[in-house]
Amino acid sequence: MLPKIALTIIVITIIIILFRKSDSLKKFKKSNSDNNAVEMKKDPICGLYVEDTTSHKVKLDEEVYSFCSKECRDKFIASKKK
Ligand SMILES: [Zn+2]
Repeated sequence: MLPKIALTIIVITIIIILFRKSDSLKKFKKSNSDNNAVEMKKDPICGLYVEDTTSHKVKLDEEVYSFCSKECRDKFIASKKK
């Protein structure tokens, strides 16, 4: 039979491990938002998510569309020009 103190130490150790895990997770999330999290936009052509900082963009009807590549952007523009 385990002495009560040993059991307490085990429990505390588990709590510390869990706390550290959630703490580092919070830090990770926080640092992400601190960097002003790059917004992800969906490429309307291929469905890929691209960073909002992409240079492949087109503004149409007051809305900015982001694309993974020039090819997708060109396809989109072509489809809108019909
Ligand atoms: Zn694409």
